[in-house]
Amino acid sequence: MLSFPDARRKVIEVVTTLVRDGRISQSVALDAALGRVLAAPIAADRDYPPFNRATRDGYAVRSSDLREAGAVLRLAGEIRAGQEFSRTIQAGECVQIMTGAAPPDGADAVEMIEYSRVVASGSAALVHFDRAAKTGQNIVPRGSEARAGQTLLNAGARLGYVELSLAAQVGCVEPEVWARPRVGILSTGDEVINAAETPGPLQIRNGNSFSLAAQVDSAGAEAVLLGNAPDEGGELKRRIAEGLKLDALVLSGGVSAGKYDLVEGVLAELGAEIYFDGVAIRPGRPAVFGECGGKPVFGLPGNPVSTMVTFELFVLPALDILSGTEPRPLPLLRAKLGAQLREKPGLAHFLPARIEWTSGEPVVTPVRWQGSGDVVALASANCFLVVHESKLDSEVGEWVDVMPRRGAL
Ligand code: AMP
Ligand code: MG
Repeated sequence: MLSFPDARRKVIEVVTTLVRDGRISQSVALDAALGRVLAAPIAADRDYPPFNRATRDGYAVRSSDLREAGAVLRLAGEIRAGQEFSRTIQAGECVQIMTGAAPPDGADAVEMIEYSRVVASGSAALVHFDRAAKTGQNIVPRGSEARAGQTLLNAGARLGYVELSLAAQVGCVEPEVWARPRVGILSTGDEVINAAETPGPLQIRNGNSFSLAAQVDSAGAEAVLLGNAPDEGGELKRRIAEGLKLDALVLSGGVSAGKYDLVEGVLAELGAEIYFDGVAIRPGRPAVFGECGGKPVFGLPGNPVSTMVTFELFVLPALDILSGTEPRPLPLLRAKLGAQLREKPGLAHFLPARIEWTSGEPVVTPVRWQGSGDVVALASANCFLVVHESKLDSEVGEWVDVMPRRGAL
């Protein structure tokens, strides 16, 4: 059985080889581009900043006039952001300036308003400066952040809030992005019914299709809901074959050791190459990963917490690669343990837990749970405490790994 880092590496290695040319790109409106992956770079349309920019409210001065503290300069006017000052300032002059405005010709420094005071007003206004000024202070020179034509975002960059702001600032209002991979979601199980239906006493409403769709969509891919298949070979095979027409397929349920856990066998019948069918983790041990007709296919265990954890560990990096970007690293934090740990050997454990910073230090404490079916417990957690196989026992105050629950932290 693979460890979870090895299983993840395997997914990344295999899916990287599956990605072929012929990917489709499209331009999208910037306000609909959150989470999309650039198919073409975005360059600076002009220098940034486009002019020397004052970074403080204060006075534009010639630093040669403020070699020492206590200088007094003649106030020659004011410059608001977006306005131009029409003339060069002369020796002995200063101009009041606002953050974001361009200092006038002749000025090479801005002194903060906090270090200056008007000592005479009216037509002969004078400003006293409490300290000396250095050349260039409180001015960001034109082109110092980026030069016109310089690439600011490479193809393959995912558009988050930072990238969207940058694209907007350089006037790229319709970026070229890759089409999102379409990911089929097929739950399995004779007992599983649509959430809108009324369950019989032994039936279970389908939660996994909802969590998986949310995980797919929030990963920047497009979820395609394929419903629920019964634990019956013929029908399961037909539904899986249908799902494999999409860019990737994620199944839930039917991968454990039970007599009616048919998913892996059906995948094999369809000619899938199975790369792993077990990972040394709890929850999620029976997770299956394979490739069928050039498409990645995942058989995730049906217990909801297992489904969720194995998606984050194994499906997410695959979707990144299919989306045209680098697989995101596993986002592990470190925190101090809030309760003693004694976990069973042979597996790594992902325990629903809460991380808090109330004491000024990150402290993580597992929540009480009933195992991998317990979504109620997971809803009160904001992370998973990661207990590695190599260190199953830990004491209060020891540093441990934490995997944030996406959306909750
Ligand atoms: P399985 O992996 O098929 O053995 O299912 C393990 C457990 O997860 C069983 O208790 C199932 O009833 C439950 N389960 C399977 N699929 C779903 C689903 N789509 N939504 C909620 N629970 C499920
Ligand atoms: Mg089942």
